[in-house]
Amino acid sequence: MKSDSPLFDKIRVTATKDRRKKKPSAGPKCQWSGCEKEGAHRAPRGRGNEKEYWRFCLEHVRQYNQNYNFFAGMNHDDVLKYQKDALTGHRPTWKMGTGKRGKPDLGGAFDPLHMFEEIGGRAGPEQQKQSEQRTVRNVERKHLETLGLEVGVTKVEVKTRFKELVKKHHPDANGGDKSSEDRLVEIIQSYNYLKSVGLG
Ligand SMILES: [Zn+2]
Repeated sequence: MKSDSPLFDKIRVTATKDRRKKKPSAGPKCQWSGCEKEGAHRAPRGRGNEKEYWRFCLEHVRQYNQNYNFFAGMNHDDVLKYQKDALTGHRPTWKMGTGKRGKPDLGGAFDPLHMFEEIGGRAGPEQQKQSEQRTVRNVERKHLETLGLEVGVTKVEVKTRFKELVKKHHPDANGGDKSSEDRLVEIIQSYNYLKSVGLG
């Protein structure tokens, strides 16, 4: 077995790990792009670089070893670039980790529907619920205004006002005035709505 083979290195690395059992994470960080774990494992950089090693965490030393033949001979930048691409599924996407926590950096992209913010959790179901509640309140306000009332009135106040308005706008009380009838229909519709939401 060649001394620089990944398998050989793995065996040696395991022995090393056992020797320094339970050492608190103070050592070098994993050099896999974007990884924050401890780089407790060494992996040879490749042919011609037998004396140089990457420092990886267990997961990444395994991944590296699996791809050893692929990585061998690549220079440092190429390997890092491959790892970076692997993080994002080898697709172009927004820059990771440069935006605020939980919010992707859109690089100034136009986001009128806040879809990307939504992905980042800023406009979640809670905000949607609030927006729906606002719409309901606006409808409610409109119907209250029809009765000459404002938001915050009680059920009794709505009922009292409705009776007053019915008397006032009833065609019989206005000599059969048609416009009064239209106004009455409006009032009844608004009252019915308010009743349906428990206000009246
Ligand atoms: Zn790692």
